[in-house]
Amino acid sequence: MSSFYVDLISAISENVEDTLMTDLKLKDRVAVVTGGSRGIGKGICLAYAQEGAHIIFSYASNQKAAEQTAEEVKALGVKCIAIQADAGQESDFVRMQEVARKEFDKINILVANAGTIGKELPVKDMPVEEWDHLISIDLRGVFLAAKYFIPLMATDPVGKIINITSELSKKGRANYAHYCAAKGGINGLTRSLALELVPGILVNAIAPGPIETDMILADMEPEWIEKEKDIPMQRLGTVEEIAATAVLLASDGGNFYCGQILSPNGGAVFF
Ligand code: NAP
Repeated sequence: MSSFYVDLISAISENVEDTLMTDLKLKDRVAVVTGGSRGIGKGICLAYAQEGAHIIFSYASNQKAAEQTAEEVKALGVKCIAIQADAGQESDFVRMQEVARKEFDKINILVANAGTIGKELPVKDMPVEEWDHLISIDLRGVFLAAKYFIPLMATDPVGKIINITSELSKKGRANYAHYCAAKGGINGLTRSLALELVPGILVNAIAPGPIETDMILADMEPEWIEKEKDIPMQRLGTVEEIAATAVLLASDGGNFYCGQILSPNGGAVFF
């Protein structure tokens, strides 16, 4: 083959590669995801990495799962840092913020996802400690994430904060008043923060329906899981279906969402 054709083919393939790279929706953006080692958080880390974002994620205690997730994220060709940091501990956010500042200086996306469903108890039997523990992780943790990462957020391109709430914030559930109250609190926090930070940073939330994660599959009785499927779509959702909404909000395609609560929930709630 003549050198003309060799040069031509090489120019075309470089071009295709460049086009593929620039097509990535989050190329070289930096995303912080709390509770990113398993479940929905892991799905979001992988989906963002697939779109070219570097990832910092936190986890509570499962180091093995965190290492596995970090490997999977790095295999997609981006940087990834896993940090043990409890969403209920302010000092852990201080430490996590320091790592993010040192490694990346600025971040572009914050996903406040870490959460736990807590114990199934009627309010009259719920120890105050159980209430405080859940609120501290599921609601205070979202406030702390915003408090410590807003100062690091770049505003060009527009910064994105995505809080993970729940369909149960809208419809409530008997014996999970603490979880529903925390998630309802996230909705109010999301709207208020959206008004505080627009237009430099856009704040929205995702309220998933029942999703196939350990929170449901490992922690609940089989009858409870069957009851969870009793929604119009008659099945649990997947982490990929939630991650797709998280990619939309984080990418430029989500630049007109402000203070919204998006509901990938299989029709479980209509408002
Ligand atoms: P999951 O499978 O149980 O995973 C939870 C993740 O959060 C893990 O990475 C875990 O780390 C981390 N985490 C738990 N407690 C933490 C803490 N105190 N500090 C820091 N990280 C912590 O849960 P999931 O189902 O993916 O839920 C993720 C979010 O979606 C939660 O906010 C949940 O309320 C919400 N959500 C879930 C569903 C559902 O049906 N699954 C529906 C609606 C909303 P370790 O691995 O170290 O434990």
